[in-house]
Amino acid sequence: MELLKVILSLMFCMTTVSVLSPSNFKTNGESGATEYSNATWVPANKNNFSPSEKESNGVRWIVIHDIEGSADAALRWFQDERAKASAHYIVDYNGKVYQMVKEKDIAWHTGNWKYNVHSIGIEHAGFADKDMFTDEEYVASAKLVAYLCKKYNISIVHWEGIAPEDPNNGSGIIGHYQVPDPKNPSLGGGVSHHYDPGNYWNWNYFIALVKKFYYLNATAGENKKVVAAWLGMYSDYWSSDYNTWKNQVYDAMERLSKAGVNTIFFLAKDPWGYVYYNSSVAPLNKKYNWDVLKEVCEAARKYNISLHVYINALSEGEDTPNFYLLSHKDQALYDQDGGMLGWADPGSEEYVERLLSIVKEIVSNYKVDGIQLDRIRVPPNALGKASEEKFRQTYNKDPESNMDLWNNFVREEVSELVKKVHELTKSTNTSLYVSAAVFPVYDLQGVGSSLRYQLQDWKKWISSNYVDFVCTMAYTSDFNKFKLYVDDEVKVTQDPSKVYIGIGAWLLNKNGLKEQMDYVFNKSKLNGVVLFSADSLLNSNELLSGISEYLKEGYTPDEKEKFFIILLVASFLVLAFILLGFFLKLKRKFLIT
Ligand SMILES: [Zn+2]
Repeated sequence: MELLKVILSLMFCMTTVSVLSPSNFKTNGESGATEYSNATWVPANKNNFSPSEKESNGVRWIVIHDIEGSADAALRWFQDERAKASAHYIVDYNGKVYQMVKEKDIAWHTGNWKYNVHSIGIEHAGFADKDMFTDEEYVASAKLVAYLCKKYNISIVHWEGIAPEDPNNGSGIIGHYQVPDPKNPSLGGGVSHHYDPGNYWNWNYFIALVKKFYYLNATAGENKKVVAAWLGMYSDYWSSDYNTWKNQVYDAMERLSKAGVNTIFFLAKDPWGYVYYNSSVAPLNKKYNWDVLKEVCEAARKYNISLHVYINALSEGEDTPNFYLLSHKDQALYDQDGGMLGWADPGSEEYVERLLSIVKEIVSNYKVDGIQLDRIRVPPNALGKASEEKFRQTYNKDPESNMDLWNNFVREEVSELVKKVHELTKSTNTSLYVSAAVFPVYDLQGVGSSLRYQLQDWKKWISSNYVDFVCTMAYTSDFNKFKLYVDDEVKVTQDPSKVYIGIGAWLLNKNGLKEQMDYVFNKSKLNGVVLFSADSLLNSNELLSGISEYLKEGYTPDEKEKFFIILLVASFLVLAFILLGFFLKLKRKFLIT
């Protein structure tokens, strides 16, 4: 028991580990010294890493190791000047995370100097040849990796095979066994051919977890609630003078992030046909003459806000046809009297191609976290040239006399478009998320039906994996209606990670907002809300403080109860007064007679 000093030779990360009594490593307990907020700072001995004056050496890789022992062993060994080895982070069996080397400094962990320079090393309690990694460990490590991927813009992919000889020629997540031997780059495991973390490390599970936490905005290292806002820049709130506007954007991100908003859905194509980024497909909103999306991406990143882009898919003018449809009449939908609508025909291949080009431009040219389709719906019973042609070919029937069949047909075309956007986005970058903003209530008698009245089959989009999640637009100030919407949406989607509830913040006061947020997070156990809109929040400090108060204190219907008590007391007094009056009258009457 007593300080039995054994020197073990290890095949893996550390060449030797001194095993002392448990928990006698030095920790100065300065959590402030860690970069990752969930880690405890236990600095490595200064002889075990190379300090760097640079802010970052260009982190491109995350290297997964195992310790061949416990976290304690690694903590003590990296504090021992004989080790000549270190790692940035250590993850224990119970999910506890330690940081030992600053991310900007160069930990000695790969057996390849260039990879040491361009990577972050994470050691895990466990053995390459034993099935001992725990779920707590996977989860804690995945949160850490999600944070690192976001910070250094690293793709969430497990690199296949040995990583490139020059670390600048790739990027991703690898095991130590994939680090090339600098002398013989076709061999892995660095100069001494380590093979950790070994065959028991479950890469598929791990990468899926990383994606989950990345997406849930793991910047604080926690599986946080998603509090998102839809942000558009078509309103008068936003200045058309570049410098004023830029200040507004940074100010907005700061205020939103302080309130607890951690995700933004930014409008990049509006329902009138204009875009808010540098496009060769569609015209920029005339108000701006700079790349709006690019600046918004940078501002969001500064405040650790996830940024998804949303585009209006099938509306081109919405109420009345816009310039685009007026010059592309065969791509429009028409009412049954031949009047052109402000909606595009989802069966028009030209229109679909154009929309896909817009998606392609955005996901290829901007560092965004996902793409969202808005107004991915069309009015029922509307006719379109291209769709009609396909319908006649398929059924040999007229749409006009087969409206149910026709609406089903068009609904399928809308779903097909969602599927294409999903395929295109994932083929460009697998870590991007595809979502859709949808009407509340899938199909509920007497309440609503996005299925029938919007031709929007979002249940199918979820079950067929055409989208990663939907955001329902459950906008109402009527709390009972809101509950009805949310309950239906939970029931339809089944998987709570696939639905975020859109809240109409502009309809609510502070208390109403807290009440609806509470119904989503606390009563319904869902992961996120999306508030419409950022403008409404920025115009109301009351709403912004409602968000932060809810996230800190939760919701207790105090004010509401107080109100009811006052109401109850008041009605009791009124009643007593009436009764008293009645008795006095009766008494007087009695006395007179
Ligand atoms: Zn290793």
